[in-house]
Amino acid sequence: PYLLTDQGFVNRDELYYPFEERGLQFGDGVYEVIRIYRGNYYLIKEHVERLFRSAKAIKINVPYSKEEMYEKLDELLTKNSVETDAKVYLQLTRGSAPRDHAFPKDVQANLYAYVQDLPRKVEPLQNGVTTITQPDVRWDYCYIKSLNLLPNVMAKQEATEKGAFEAILHRNKKVTEGSSSNVYLVKDGIVYTHPATENILHGCVRMRVVALTTQLGFPFIQAAFSLEDIAEADELFITSSTAEIMPVVKVDDIQVGTGKPGPVTQQLQQAYEKDAKIPQSDSI
Ligand code: PMP
Repeated sequence: PYLLTDQGFVNRDELYYPFEERGLQFGDGVYEVIRIYRGNYYLIKEHVERLFRSAKAIKINVPYSKEEMYEKLDELLTKNSVETDAKVYLQLTRGSAPRDHAFPKDVQANLYAYVQDLPRKVEPLQNGVTTITQPDVRWDYCYIKSLNLLPNVMAKQEATEKGAFEAILHRNKKVTEGSSSNVYLVKDGIVYTHPATENILHGCVRMRVVALTTQLGFPFIQAAFSLEDIAEADELFITSSTAEIMPVVKVDDIQVGTGKPGPVTQQLQQAYEKDAKIPQSDSI
């Protein structure tokens, strides 16, 4: 398998970093996870734009222009003959240099991207998943897709140990987002989610959900809801490039709505499948 790097394409076994690498020592970098359906990128523009925004926010120069990035990412799929459902993980760090908190002079950014198979699993999309709640203990710049994921990792592990799919994070009882997803509440046909402030990641799927919800004729309100609101909710769902639009049927010990995926979520899932050009044979 081929990897895309800042030095062009290399074989998977050929990529090595010095142990003094700033991604490893400081989490000094940013990343993207991009979904591929049947060999085609979904929301590629949104992901590339966000990569450049994240990199700029922490003052890393992306080693390729946006145009080059699109070309190289396409080439990554052709070189690996990707024709199935997959994802690309792309990571960009400040580079390799003797350890020092301050940016080293003349350091070269390290970039790599690789493809991983990711077959679509419809069972949880059909039946929904359970979640837990956790305090959001992250920093104030969660809109940057940074490699510093320890709070997210700890929250997801807590969920995993409790047999749940995701941890829903809250600041002062207001739901921000999931450990690796955005979170939405449906009440009386209105969809609510935390506004796209610096406290959440501006999800690429979230951006599409705003558009799809509006197209379907449901009001979309970007306002934070509270943990107490969940008990009164009709529906709840989360989104991400890998989880898509995932119904949530339980939060801690609370059943959401009827305990089954609701009609608004289901309509959004159908709209998503159309938008992502998912073939009928693979649909929910
Ligand atoms: N929030 C967080 C914290 C995430 O890690 C992710 C997944 N990358 C998302 C939201 C969803 O983002 P996207 O829709 O771009 O995958």
